[in-house]
Amino acid sequence: MGRATSKHVIFSQQERENQIAMPSVFMYSTITSKLRKFEVKVLQQSSLNHKQVERSPGILKLAKIAPNQEESLYYDSNSSWVYELLTELCENIDFEGRESERDPFIRTHDLKLNLFLNRKISNDLNDHIVITGDIDATFSLPCIRCLQPVREALALKVNSCSLSEEMQERPEFQEADTVFALGEERDLYFYHKREIDLKEMVHEYLYLNLPPLPLHDPSCKGLCLKCGANLNTTLCKHVKHLQ
Ligand SMILES: [Zn+2]
Ligand SMILES: [Zn+2]
Repeated sequence: MGRATSKHVIFSQQERENQIAMPSVFMYSTITSKLRKFEVKVLQQSSLNHKQVERSPGILKLAKIAPNQEESLYYDSNSSWVYELLTELCENIDFEGRESERDPFIRTHDLKLNLFLNRKISNDLNDHIVITGDIDATFSLPCIRCLQPVREALALKVNSCSLSEEMQERPEFQEADTVFALGEERDLYFYHKREIDLKEMVHEYLYLNLPPLPLHDPSCKGLCLKCGANLNTTLCKHVKHLQ
């Protein structure tokens, strides 16, 4: 894939500096790294639970898509790979070790994909797939000041075209983010070994559009720098000193 997939691209330099100035950032990253470990376990469990429903990890085989006819696909979090994406979106929510709350919490959110596929074969783009449609996601991110969950919703338009990996070598595509296909400029992707990785594409659409600075309330008071008390709900002995 040609474009940056890193989460970090969503922060501008100014936003980064703002974050560093916030008291909760250190705690946030500590909690995040702690969560990562059991996250892996939860993910493995959830894939097991959903195996009966859906075996495909979000991979489409090119050979199964007939050229020159539109095909529509619908996925939601009943597909294991979609559930994994949803879990990842909510991964920084702190359950304070109460792992049993994680899955019920994630299931109060959803990720729905309504996609239309058009496989075309042309002289300039060879065998390519145009994918359009909608991604609708509800998920939760931690408030950047106090870490409590903030419910977010994203409605994204998908407008992409996947070319074969051999096309990646061509000079015109080496630095390109978009390609003109089926009469429109579209986000450029590459498929590999005649398989289209839908999960990777949806992941990128989501992470390039995440709200960078979620706040549970614009006037959130955050956490005490010294003792970590949530200043929205409690007063600690350091507060007078700070204000
Ligand atoms: Zn808050
Ligand atoms: Zn305090």
